[in-house]
Amino acid sequence: MIRLSNIQLPLDHDASAVESAILSMLEIPAEKLVSFNVFRRGYDARKKTNIMLIYTLDVETTCNDVLLSQFADHQQIKVTPDLDYHPVTQAPVTLTERPIVIGFGPCGLLAALVLAQMGYKPIVLERGKEVRERTKDTFGFWRKKILNTESNVQFGEGGAGTFSDGKLYSQVKDPKQYSRKVLNEFVAAGAPDEILYVSKPHIGTFKLVAMVEKMRAQIIELGGEIRFSCRVDDLHIENGQVTGVTLADGEQLHSKHIAIAIGHSARDTFEMLHNKGVYIEAKPFSVGFRIEHEQSSIDKARFGPNAGNEILGAADYKLVHHCKNGRSVYSFCMCPGGTVVAATSEENRVVTNGMSQYSRNERNANSAIVVGIDPSDYPGGPLAGIEFQRKLESLAYELGGSNYDAPAQTVGAFLRNETPKALGTVEPSFKPGIKLTNLADALPDFCIEAIREAIPAFNKKIRGFAFDDALLTGVETRTSAPINIKRDNDSLESINTKGLFPAGEGAGYAGGIMSAAIDGIKIAEAMALSINAKAVK
Ligand code: FAD
Repeated sequence: MIRLSNIQLPLDHDASAVESAILSMLEIPAEKLVSFNVFRRGYDARKKTNIMLIYTLDVETTCNDVLLSQFADHQQIKVTPDLDYHPVTQAPVTLTERPIVIGFGPCGLLAALVLAQMGYKPIVLERGKEVRERTKDTFGFWRKKILNTESNVQFGEGGAGTFSDGKLYSQVKDPKQYSRKVLNEFVAAGAPDEILYVSKPHIGTFKLVAMVEKMRAQIIELGGEIRFSCRVDDLHIENGQVTGVTLADGEQLHSKHIAIAIGHSARDTFEMLHNKGVYIEAKPFSVGFRIEHEQSSIDKARFGPNAGNEILGAADYKLVHHCKNGRSVYSFCMCPGGTVVAATSEENRVVTNGMSQYSRNERNANSAIVVGIDPSDYPGGPLAGIEFQRKLESLAYELGGSNYDAPAQTVGAFLRNETPKALGTVEPSFKPGIKLTNLADALPDFCIEAIREAIPAFNKKIRGFAFDDALLTGVETRTSAPINIKRDNDSLESINTKGLFPAGEGAGYAGGIMSAAIDGIKIAEAMALSINAKAVK
């Protein structure tokens, strides 16, 4: 097929315009066009009154070869790359060792699925519950303030992104097109087809829940095993080689190939790994607040007279500001038409995050407004970032009234450094609830100073961003893992523990659902090749 990129058409173009654009670009009559499909559709909203749709199309003609040589130097006309996933190997007929995957978030899920598809019958160990039970526990916390520390927003089948906006795009380099494999698997498990072509695909919470169940069923059908409520509490290491794990109930399992895809909130497991001597480094992360505006105001600021257009959907934004004090403030995990959620996995702590449904039709837009920090802000060794996060989360718990309500402040009051007397027009979506306070006490001074500078700067890009009644809720601390479990660039094994494959967000190799899933595929391939190489010896 031939790939045509960067074809721009007006937002309100009629159905025949795409075909006309193809014929005109390739300079062919309609009879020579066999078929086409949309590989990607994005938009350019820089001119609000003239928003353009931007297409990447895959086209089949009766004369592909002739056209490809005719347009050999044309930047927008190329051969369509091979998007099929090709397994790197297959399991030996007599499999002597089953790999273990710890954690069943997007990373562990894709690692286990790809291992199972190659015939390796992986054993997945997940500390949380299966997704329907987990949903009850998570909603139980939001509605009744009853926290289950092993089954919540962070822990359980599907991992941290299960109750999320389900954004499925990532900026990681993906030369092998693994993201296509991930999207294809998601569609096969029930995600809407449109995720294959829109430039910023998202699924939303409830669709994710059903998809995760289907993918679990496929892994089991292929001979894999998935064990819930199985927390790994210990790792067996002999002469620098991992040999197995001990579960919380004392059961031991043996394998010399173990993926550790535990997410950014498995603080107890990080401590265990550190105590066992697995090499870990502190790494930068970010902290801040969630900001909420009415979605209609964001739509208007981004799309002007086209606000509400069905193709454009609820508007998102991406903002960054470099502050005078040397810090960078940026928007993170923006959830159009969504809600702010309570995301702690530990008792007596408050953590914010955001989620939405596929329809993105809740009243408010939310995003995290966070400040980048690095290990020099929290000296004290590889795990010092965890203590830094815990301190801020405990403080937020106290500021919120010590009952899991979150501390919150209107943007106007935050900028004026005063405690607001009442909410404005923006209603808080955070459950269980919020307590109005002065958030200046919730983060280190340099963070507050940076966010105070950034919000008015963001207002220049999104009119109304610094609106008095917009609402800040805190604290956002789990933006990424505060550690990096170092791995070898080629074998993907821990640099000092053979057979241990650190993976996904918790190990510092992903930041989001898609990049974690891509990392899962890479890890599965590395484990499979290593198992086969050892089987030959
Ligand atoms: P996780 O998804 O965190 O999975 C790790 C799993 O390991 C967990 O299920 C955990 O229970 C398990 N585990 C931990 N320790 C152990 C142990 N000792 N033994 C056994 N199991 C263990 N990203 C996006 O790209 N788009 C979004 O819209 C988005 N929204 C989000 C909304 C919320 C509320 C949250 C919390 C996160 C969101 N994210 C989003 C981030 C995204 O969820 C993560 O980047 C992603 O889930 C990381 O995948 P992972 O597999 O590496 O880790």
